[in-house]
Amino acid sequence: MTQAFPTPAAHAREVLAKLGVLALPADGGQPVRGPIDGAILTHVAYDDAREIEAKVAAACRAFEAWRVVPAPRRGELVRLFGEELRAAKPDLAALVSLEAGKIASEAAGEVQEMIDICDFAVGLSRQLHGLTIASERPGHAMRETWHPLGPVAVISAFNFPVAVWAWNACLALVCGDPVIWKPSEKTPLTALATHAVLQRALARFEDAPEGLACVVLGGRDAGERLARDPRIPLVSATGSTRMGKALAPLVAERFGRSILELGGNNAMIVAPSADLSLALRAIVFSAAGTAGQRCTSLRRLIVHESLVDKVSGAVEAAFQRLPVGDPRQAKTLLGPLIDRAAYEAFVEAMNQVRAEGGSVSGGERLLIDEHPDAFYVRPALARLPAPAPCLRRETFAPLLHVVPYTDFDEAVAIQNDVPQGLSSCVMTNDVREAEGFLSAAGSDCGIANVNIGPSGAEIGGAFGGEKETGGGRESGSDSWKQYMRRQTATVNYSGALPLAQGVRFDL
Ligand code: NAD
Repeated sequence: MTQAFPTPAAHAREVLAKLGVLALPADGGQPVRGPIDGAILTHVAYDDAREIEAKVAAACRAFEAWRVVPAPRRGELVRLFGEELRAAKPDLAALVSLEAGKIASEAAGEVQEMIDICDFAVGLSRQLHGLTIASERPGHAMRETWHPLGPVAVISAFNFPVAVWAWNACLALVCGDPVIWKPSEKTPLTALATHAVLQRALARFEDAPEGLACVVLGGRDAGERLARDPRIPLVSATGSTRMGKALAPLVAERFGRSILELGGNNAMIVAPSADLSLALRAIVFSAAGTAGQRCTSLRRLIVHESLVDKVSGAVEAAFQRLPVGDPRQAKTLLGPLIDRAAYEAFVEAMNQVRAEGGSVSGGERLLIDEHPDAFYVRPALARLPAPAPCLRRETFAPLLHVVPYTDFDEAVAIQNDVPQGLSSCVMTNDVREAEGFLSAAGSDCGIANVNIGPSGAEIGGAFGGEKETGGGRESGSDSWKQYMRRQTATVNYSGALPLAQGVRFDL
């Protein structure tokens, strides 16, 4: 049944008010367009250089106080934030749908991911352990300690408008670091709303320093300003490889650290022994889910030659059946592309496939009469007789390339032969293929899966990829170490002063 919703602009106003984002300019600021109908949702005011300076200075002052708060107490703030997020989940998820175009269940999943990382970070706040190390000198104790690092800038992309910030922010806060958030210019409202939810937690926490968390609104210039600032020891940036190439040298020039989470070009190998019904579901979710706008979206399908027609036909049929429309409707599985530029890049990529000898099915623009300013599309399947240059590019849209392979080593070579290295998977019931794919000679990606698709990671593992994906790791495992500085300390409790390596220096 179709549910009646207000216009996206009215709906956004209603949800923003519930979340506590009240002071937006009526007009005159920067317009924020929603992808559901392409209309302006509201306006926001960008921060100018003076305002950014004030926020960075406040973060530096906050660091002086926050770094000496015991880590488990810092964890308490994140615990409260998790509680506030649980209460705000339906409204924040609605805003993710309105601003980023995600279907309701994926939008709720994105907020759940924030809650999950809160829980993880709270536990972590009691486990920021260092090491004790055997000293070669008698009467000496050596240890390694992790200390807070300083203000962390988080620059985020439109397609995970809140979760990726939370991966960074929750770890940074328990590690003792203030957080400065520069969200995508396409999704500032979800950032303001998340910040308002965090304010509720800060109010309950009572004694957090002013300026511990802030949002800087702006475009590329604002991001570059943060990248250049030597007071910010870590810049965690998520977005296109183009962005990473511009940003990384700015941070490196001043010897800052960066965590880069950049473009992906993710593949699945479908082997002869694969469970095809499982594979089909994994393919359709990971290629068409989020309208192909996940960094981990499936973009390349490498199918054994004996199965390529069967699998391609089944995927085409499934793409045709996918319900496309307003992402707020419960039955919708495919929402809109973020904007016109995304649609134009999709069309251009399909033309490129044809120019390189491939054929394309699907890819039509849909719902044009209903939403002339929004960009709904049918996912496209591009069949290529052999690998072609178009396989090497990331197109941030639901365009899935299919290419046949003959033997498994060839399939792995095709999978690895791209500039990006984020996520990968193999569908097989052959243990040699599965283990080979996960071995040192297998997938070269940061994420490698067996019998699940490449998208939909959990927060417990370290997330990120190699090569042009940037090499960064965030979220679970030991990613927290990047938000702290490591100190090696040696204490001499003997009455002598022996030197290491047997060096003698007798005065
Ligand atoms: P984008 O590169 O256009 O923008 C990302 C962010 O970087 C925005 O906040 C933008 O304002 C900022 N920015 C752009 N140029 C900058 C510069 N020179 N200096 C500082 N900041 C700058 O990306 P997008 O279109 O928002 O997101 C889609 C891209 O992000 C895709 O390539 C996708 O694969 C990638 N992505 C990667 C991951 C990952 O974890 N690897 C996660 C999500 C998205």
